[in-house]
Amino acid sequence: MAELKIANLNKSFGSTKVLEDVSFTVNDGEFCIVLGPSGCGKSTILRLVSGLEQQDSGTIYIGDVEVSGQSPKERDVAMVFQNYALYPHMSVFDNMAFSLKMSNTPKPEIKRKVIEGATLLKINDLLQRKPKELSGGQRQRVAIGRAIVRNPQVFLFDEPLSNLDAKLRNTMRIELVGLHNKLSSTVLYVTHDQVEAMTLGQKVVLLNEGRIQQMGTPAELYEKPTNIFAATFIGSPQMNILNGRIKNEGEKILFNTGEITFDVSHRKNLRGYTGQKITVGIRPEALLLGKGPLSGKIKLIEHLGSEIILHAMIDKTKIIARLSPEIEKREGEPISFSLVWKGVHFFSKGERIP
Ligand code: ADP
Ligand code: MG
Repeated sequence: MAELKIANLNKSFGSTKVLEDVSFTVNDGEFCIVLGPSGCGKSTILRLVSGLEQQDSGTIYIGDVEVSGQSPKERDVAMVFQNYALYPHMSVFDNMAFSLKMSNTPKPEIKRKVIEGATLLKINDLLQRKPKELSGGQRQRVAIGRAIVRNPQVFLFDEPLSNLDAKLRNTMRIELVGLHNKLSSTVLYVTHDQVEAMTLGQKVVLLNEGRIQQMGTPAELYEKPTNIFAATFIGSPQMNILNGRIKNEGEKILFNTGEITFDVSHRKNLRGYTGQKITVGIRPEALLLGKGPLSGKIKLIEHLGSEIILHAMIDKTKIIARLSPEIEKREGEPISFSLVWKGVHFFSKGERIP
């Protein structure tokens, strides 16, 4: 295993800039996630790292070796695709053994490695089957197994779980964590699914329109989103966004949207934004039932078992709160919220106010 270092990658297709100055490092043994919406350039990063595509500028290092100019075969990476990309006419065993055969690995060693990988992934009794005789989850395991037997320096995963149903996705997520703990492999994993990113990633690189928005641990991204994109892309239900202005009233600093006003005097640095437009982001769990500055009417309650998602209108502003299911509230009733400041974030011109 080795560190993967990506520096200043740029890539355009025709006149479309797909990656702009992308730099980050996956430490040796780290599980790193690139998270971002569809079309933001995630697969392109993997294709550049694997050598399937050539960057316009920038460098890629695996360990101390610059691989940017190497052919895909020379780079010691293994990629797992969303659509599995198994050879349909080959058995599971032969699918897993394929790359080892191509590199002239002796037969007994191939057998040992395939069985070792199959045991790890619990697919030993499927080795003689063809891909079409497998379920989606089993196929994905084979695809992962095919990567594991190669014992590459770096694993590349391109949304490997997105074709699986929700339950299997959860199971596979937990298994991937276990697998990574066992193998201590260097992993670059891309997904549009924030839940996957937050649960799998030791480091998350948040990408939008080919540019890195923020990098950090899942907790850092959740607790300190660097801009409105990061704030709204991560978290479900999405963070509530209020646009308004900062006003001074004597000693008090107030945030005012025209409909909603609340005291933000504890954030002394907001005084510097007096008169300016700012955006306040409120996590759904930062709204507490009880006397507070946000009063309105309940519009809809979604019962999710362990929690409820409550939609309320504060005048014409829609607010979503995540609450404990014990509360006895009905649609149409009046409601009032106070704020838990830890989950309230301030932005000026889209960027976080520290
Ligand atoms: P993601 O994996 O995040 O969904 P991709 O990296 O696949 O995004 O694609 C990023 C952008 O680059 C998209 O707008 C896509 O249409 C474009 N793109 C990707 N590959 C090519 C290609 N070979 N030719 C032209 N455009 C491409
Ligand atoms: Mg993709």
